[in-house]
Amino acid sequence: MKTHIYPVDDLKPHTTDSDTCWCNPCVDDELVIHNAMDERETYEQGRKLQ
Ligand SMILES: [Zn+2]
Repeated sequence: MKTHIYPVDDLKPHTTDSDTCWCNPCVDDELVIHNAMDERETYEQGRKLQ
């Protein structure tokens, strides 16, 4: 069972019971990192691109 990281309150609900989702998530060994529809995922992960 992988851990899913996804933005809460995104414009569309994310699929968290499989490795595939509409957002084309980045799948790691233990993590499925979803992409925010409004491209704010860099903020959700606590880092900003500067
Ligand atoms: Zn997703």
